Amino acid sequence: MWTLVVNCGSSSLKFALLNPDSGEMPLAGLAERLGSDLAAVRVDREGERVSVPLPHGSYPEAFGVLLAELDALGLRREVRAVGHRVVHGGDRFSTPVLITPEVLEVIRACVPLAPLHNPANLAGIEAAQAAFPDLPQIAVFDTAFHQTMPPVAYRYAVPTDWYTQHGVRRYGFHGISHEYVAGEAARLLGRDPSGLNLVTAHLGNGCSVTAVRGGHSVDTSMGLTPLEGLVMGTRSGDVDPGLPDYLARQAGLSLTQITAALNRESGLLGLSGLTNDMRELEEAAGRGNEQARLAVEIFVYRLAKTVAGMATALDTLDGLVFTGGIGENSSGVRAATLARLGLLGFRLDEAANERAVRGQGGLITRPDSVPALVVNTNEELMIARETAEVVKVVGRGL
Ligand code: ADP
Repeated sequence: MWTLVVNCGSSSLKFALLNPDSGEMPLAGLAERLGSDLAAVRVDREGERVSVPLPHGSYPEAFGVLLAELDALGLRREVRAVGHRVVHGGDRFSTPVLITPEVLEVIRACVPLAPLHNPANLAGIEAAQAAFPDLPQIAVFDTAFHQTMPPVAYRYAVPTDWYTQHGVRRYGFHGISHEYVAGEAARLLGRDPSGLNLVTAHLGNGCSVTAVRGGHSVDTSMGLTPLEGLVMGTRSGDVDPGLPDYLARQAGLSLTQITAALNRESGLLGLSGLTNDMRELEEAAGRGNEQARLAVEIFVYRLAKTVAGMATALDTLDGLVFTGGIGENSSGVRAATLARLGLLGFRLDEAANERAVRGQGGLITRPDSVPALVVNTNEELMIARETAEVVKVVGRGL
């Protein structure tokens, strides 16, 4: 059975056709710059890469290309379900669900909590329903894995009315990735996930750290929005909550301008004044650029501090998992982070750490260390598996 996975961003559409059991993926694509004249979709079809322009730059047009590709492979009729990544499910969804009109209403109601992401997810669902009217469509939420967090982790110390009336609490994100890598890490360590306590670090353009106890999230560094927590590519992560008011008075900026700058002009980009890209920063730091060096050092310091904080949510610390573009590829960030975490029992195996790049995951610590591992995330496969699972259950209920 083939499952189509759809991941819509504010101007992008990622898709993949997968076999959820074997992980086989004969088709994948990325449509970018949707909404502009420059929109195009890059398709990877059985090892071959082609680029198709999208003159209208719309989601339905991108789905048209996807349908033509499925036809070219003779697989359109073999697709059994469509799985959608949905960023915010609020506190209503702790598992993936079949998309019904009621589910769409809840996703719509969560738009104020994810104003950039949820409208794009809704547009993707609408276009997919038009393209595949007869297939079950499943929503897999980035927030769902974190719904097992206890109140001690998810409540903010703010007026209770804000929580009860406006849903002000920590939700957490990157749940699909954290859940996937925690499962893979248990497999690699040869341990039963139910007895394992891990800290997982997803380090991409967005970054978050999660405490996973017995396979369940018990705390995570992102909060009400994906702005909280670690230093990220362009996001500040934690700042003093008094900052917006101070800057509004001092610099005459509006709340909208400050929030936009915290999301898009901060993080590694803001600190370095150069780029949000870790690889480029490491290269610049290597050439002696002091701002780039400091940006990387602050990134690492805040990461190590957050990992150590997350350990307090667990009874034991059985492993630390690095994933995402930075976690999977930057041996420098991993080494510097573990060097700050000797107190928790981490001892780096330098050779293993250098080997763990470009798709080669595995253990990067010495035998006398608490294990640290590199695990390549695979959100598409996780969504395909979860989608297939829901379809099985729904099918049984019919
Ligand atoms: P997204 O969150 O957009 O999916 P990724 O998970 O692809 O992003 O991560 C992007 C980040 O990974 C960028 O900061 C990029 O520089 C970093 N990265 C990718 N390859 C390397 C590498 N070889 N060394 C250091 N950083 C890398």
